Amino acid sequence: MSILVTGGAGYIGSHTSIALLKAGYSVIIADNFFNSRPEMIQKIEQLAGKKVIFYEVDVTNEQAVNQIFIHHQIDGIIHFAGLKAVGESVKKPLKYYYNNILSTLVLAKACHKYGVDKFVFSSSATVYGDNKVPFVETMDLLPTTNPYGETKVMSERILTDFGKVNPNFSVSLLRYFNPVGAHESGLIGEAPNGIPNNLMPYITQVAKGKLERLRIFGNDYPTVDGTGVRDYIHVMDLAEAHVAALEHLTPGVNIYNLGTGKGTSVLELVKAFEDANGITIPYEVVARRLGDIAECYADVSKAKRELGWEAKRDIVTMCRDAWRFERYYEE
Ligand code: NAD
Ligand code: UDP
Repeated sequence: MSILVTGGAGYIGSHTSIALLKAGYSVIIADNFFNSRPEMIQKIEQLAGKKVIFYEVDVTNEQAVNQIFIHHQIDGIIHFAGLKAVGESVKKPLKYYYNNILSTLVLAKACHKYGVDKFVFSSSATVYGDNKVPFVETMDLLPTTNPYGETKVMSERILTDFGKVNPNFSVSLLRYFNPVGAHESGLIGEAPNGIPNNLMPYITQVAKGKLERLRIFGNDYPTVDGTGVRDYIHVMDLAEAHVAALEHLTPGVNIYNLGTGKGTSVLELVKAFEDANGITIPYEVVARRLGDIAECYADVSKAKRELGWEAKRDIVTMCRDAWRFERYYEE
């Protein structure tokens, strides 16, 4: 089976491409390197011991995307390509709506035109808004407070509506919780541009001495220790979940939470990182970050029941692998 992986040079896409290659799939990556680098393609091939086909393409460009379908027999698509900086999406909403919505539309159209009926979409736990934890797939979605989140809600709706009139179309909407960590080789991982927005890369950059200290956004939430609680999931567990999702695709819309089901507070993550790696992380507590919710963790029973998948790697492994990558990574 041949899978088109959009955004395959990015953080989650690269790890998933390796998992796909290891599982015996052929992989065609389409990426415009907006937030990744060409070297990633060789690294994927090196770690998987197999070649990939690569297209440097903007997936909002319908004609360029169609060329891929004309030249290859594609059995399924995993659509990772997207912009993901929540704060930037508030400042530049049109950029986010254009890129994230148009890419989904172009790919859905290509499915229709070229008869591809398997689609896996990178959604996010952000679509649940401030629902009551744990988040369950059957919950009504609540406003997400930012354009990034709305692009996920809208893309889910587009694919759902498309599925309603194409009975053979099988789509999996995967709602990721907080992906962290790196491939165990330390060769690939999360390398955000500029100052990281997310907690784990911020911690690893403090550990490396690139940033002076962590700023914890609020310690007055109604949580175990007052700091925000999230469901961190190792990126390789997430990668393997995509293989399981592809293998269990059935016609219609399939929605799955991908997390561990366990909540970890900011302070607990800092402590886990310190213990796992023997490094002290200096921090200060500052005001809450606008738009943050207190707690976000998944009910993961559906993925376990229907995909036969569950996260295997614990928080210590996530911290070790994240640090192994950051430690040796050179920009
Ligand atoms: P990433 O930025 O590392 O990877 C995205 C890749 O898509 C990049 O290589 C980028 O160059 C590419 N890209 C973006 N727009 C493109 C376009 N128009 N055409 C071609 N390539 C394009 O991000 P990631 O963390 O790997 O996230 C992958 C997907 O998962 C995204 O859709 C993101 O919204 C979603 N997601 C991520 C998280 C997270 O915390 N990392 C959480 C939930 C959902
Ligand atoms: N956080 C923090 N300092 C940072 C980055 C994040 O205290 O520099 C907190 C944030 O408030 C949240 C948790 O860490 O409670 C996870 O934030 P992240 O941005 O990684 O993920 P998201 O908020 O998107 O779930």
